[in-house]
Amino acid sequence: MIVIFLGPPGAGKGTQAKHIVERYGIPQLSTGDMLRAAVKAETAIGLKAKAVMDAGNLVSDEIVAAIVEERIEAEDCAEGFLLDGFPRTVRQAEMLGGILAKKGREIDVVIELQVDEGALIERLRTRIEETKARGETPRADDNEETFAKRLGVYRDETAPLIPFYADQGKLRSIDGMAPVKTVSSEIEAILDPISTTK
Ligand code: ADP
Repeated sequence: MIVIFLGPPGAGKGTQAKHIVERYGIPQLSTGDMLRAAVKAETAIGLKAKAVMDAGNLVSDEIVAAIVEERIEAEDCAEGFLLDGFPRTVRQAEMLGGILAKKGREIDVVIELQVDEGALIERLRTRIEETKARGETPRADDNEETFAKRLGVYRDETAPLIPFYADQGKLRSIDGMAPVKTVSSEIEAILDPISTTK
């Protein structure tokens, strides 16, 4: 089962991803997490990506596509996986289609979490406060200025994926403003039937 999560920063993809990992036993592949790990480990990719990420811009399509292509070769992806934060541009979506086709695989469904932008900035403020309350440092790109930039990038670069996948008949949109449990149930209603046929 290959699932893509689509939605602006702060839509709740990470929260719901955890639930999917537990329920269906497929790994979550977050390109954001993978890139942050590369930055921390100071790999060649990490060194290149850091400034771009801190500014709220997108890392190059080639870099992220290569990271994903390598990751999905791993044994734990054999039964499927959940992509969170990838693809983020139409070009990445085309590259992903090519990568999967080479392996004789295809995307089952794209789940879009719809949220209104006003709520997102509130969620960001809460996330920053909660992180600080735990004694941790917020992500370098989790501040209001960079967040506004990330939202703009989402609108311009990523939102075009909505019609892209709708045209392929793969898009399912759900209300990301509903309570966490309600969102989880709606996701289950989409994925349960797919997982039993796989
Ligand atoms: P968010 O919380 O906004 O969903 P992520 O953790 O997914 O953010 O990603 C953080 C940053 O990592 C992005 O702003 C971008 O710089 C980089 N990044 C993550 N995924 C991609 C991708 N698929 N293509 C390009 N850049 C990416």
